[in-house]
Amino acid sequence: MTAAAESTVTFEGLFASSLPELAVPWQAEEAPEPGLLVLNDALAGELGLAPEYLKTPEGVRLLLGNHVPAGATPVAQAYAGHQFGGYSPLLGDGRALLLGELVDVAGRRRDIHLKGSGRTPFARAGDGRAVVGPMLREYLVSEAMHALNIPTTRALAVVATGRPVRRDTMLPGAVLARVASSHLRVGSFQYARATDNMELLRRLADHAISRHYPAAARAEHPYLELFASVVAAQAGLVARWMLVGFVHGVMNTDNMTISGETIDYGPCAFMDAFNPGAVYSSIDVGGRYAYANQPVVAEWNLARLAEAMLPLFHEDQEQAVAPAVEALGKFRSHYSDAWFNGMKAKLGIKGGPAGSKEGDEASELVDGVIALLKDGPVDYTQFFRRLGQAARGDDRPARGMVLDLAAFDAWAGRWAALKPDAGLMDSVNPVYIPRNHLVEEALAAATEGDMAPFNRFLDVVRFPFQERQGLERYTEGPPEDFGAYRTFCGT
Ligand code: AMP
Ligand code: MG
Repeated sequence: MTAAAESTVTFEGLFASSLPELAVPWQAEEAPEPGLLVLNDALAGELGLAPEYLKTPEGVRLLLGNHVPAGATPVAQAYAGHQFGGYSPLLGDGRALLLGELVDVAGRRRDIHLKGSGRTPFARAGDGRAVVGPMLREYLVSEAMHALNIPTTRALAVVATGRPVRRDTMLPGAVLARVASSHLRVGSFQYARATDNMELLRRLADHAISRHYPAAARAEHPYLELFASVVAAQAGLVARWMLVGFVHGVMNTDNMTISGETIDYGPCAFMDAFNPGAVYSSIDVGGRYAYANQPVVAEWNLARLAEAMLPLFHEDQEQAVAPAVEALGKFRSHYSDAWFNGMKAKLGIKGGPAGSKEGDEASELVDGVIALLKDGPVDYTQFFRRLGQAARGDDRPARGMVLDLAAFDAWAGRWAALKPDAGLMDSVNPVYIPRNHLVEEALAAATEGDMAPFNRFLDVVRFPFQERQGLERYTEGPPEDFGAYRTFCGT
């Protein structure tokens, strides 16, 4: 049955045809016994792909890369990257394929990408596979991020392959179908730059401009404007992570997009108790990607992007550096503006322009709330939500969370005097986040074949700001015996 999908949707191979040097045509590994675990009906609709079609045997095979739709040219993408600070000249999609792009019902071009689709020429020692738990984890966390209004790749489906995959134990294999505004990464530019083919580098930059920052084409210096746009997008993105307590966990340059979307949910986690040094990834022994380091790392990664793009800024290397440094220099002000404005919204206050009396008062209140959080183990998400209750006149729930009551009272008195807007606070401070102990519980059940806890949890995180009766357990921190949470890479 060739139903709706292919009659209404045409796949393109735009990346593959525009940048063949970065695209190796490849086929997905055949899945022995496909089983659709979860499908994002709403996202399928946005893409113009009928969910009913994607549930048919042919549709499921499409989601695995085993049925290649008309117009699609599956490719493995080449990229380089700095991993934990060390440069790898060749990474690329070792276990993923870009199926192609399609123009969605709103007219936006989106990538359809398959993760776990088998070994490619970039697989090195890897088996090219992915397993059910981590793919469902990416599905859940990326959908939660989207619901939190944070730019992110989206999850269209997870399909079990029916093949056992060797990890520490044998685990069920799966493929994640991922949707992104593109899969261009900082590492794509590093790879192109390393080829010494300046025409390729330019073509890549033109492709990035036309997909993400078309206004840059009209700027006096389009490539500099492209770089400045990525700097601004990433500064805004990382500020949003910080505001919700998200730790990405593996901010290598190959995991940083040009679009400004969050990508590659591996060892990521949301903080329970506020802790600037929070690290969850088992391989991040030095804490390079700890919560509070994320802005610094983003800036470091963008410096690597600037190096890769340098020949595009000016023929003369010497003259290229100054404008690149100037553009990168804006990262800090973009980041602090986005973070400070976000914090003011979390506190329900407006503040005033920097330097004004109101501006200074807001800045002191933001510093003050961070000091309260640092002082004791305080659940980050719960605390801000309970401050919303304080804004409505009952400060007991929030007050009961901090150790230094005198400090809280002094802070809360000044804050309440500004008449914080509780409605605004509730629209930015989530009740529900993908809490680690609940993520683990849902994934453990799914790995055993029970999708019910996962599906319930997905429904919860899809509406993070709306408190609902009966969902109390999803608002609570981890049980005492949950311990220091660790996430694992190479999943
Ligand atoms: P990540 O940091 O998870 O985004 O992955 C880093 C690199 O390792 C990328 O080039 C991936 O394609 C590759 N990789 C990760 N897992 C596997 C696997 N099981 N098989 C082949 N390549 C993999
Ligand atoms: Mg990656």
